[in-house]
Amino acid sequence: MTTEQQSQEPDFTRNNGLLPAIAQDADSGKILMMAWMNAEAYRETVQTGRAVYFSRSRQRLWRKGEESGHVQVVEQILLDCDRDTILMKVRQTGAACHEGYESCFFREVTADGLNIIATRLVDPNDVYQK
Ligand SMILES: [Zn+2]
Repeated sequence: MTTEQQSQEPDFTRNNGLLPAIAQDADSGKILMMAWMNAEAYRETVQTGRAVYFSRSRQRLWRKGEESGHVQVVEQILLDCDRDTILMKVRQTGAACHEGYESCFFREVTADGLNIIATRLVDPNDVYQK
């Protein structure tokens, strides 16, 4: 295993400092969700071992599970070849998706339209009271 000395972090000079971060179930390999990280979110994720994203709609750090309790414990973080995409192997509590599904990717695209291919784990109304 070699360590790269010059650049220990993702390249946050790209894409206005927001990089895509993909969460993958550490056990099943299922893709759970994709969200954005800035440098601050990334560093807190590395330091705490909990997934922290940057919410573009709220323009602030979003600690996954802060409202829902559906936290992601990070087992491993991988960077892609360009260091501008982050992949996390996580252990998910509850549902990754705010719509109550295990994965955000619960819609299958077909020639006839969209199919829901998963079952809701939780009712979003029970999780997000506000
Ligand atoms: Zn979702």
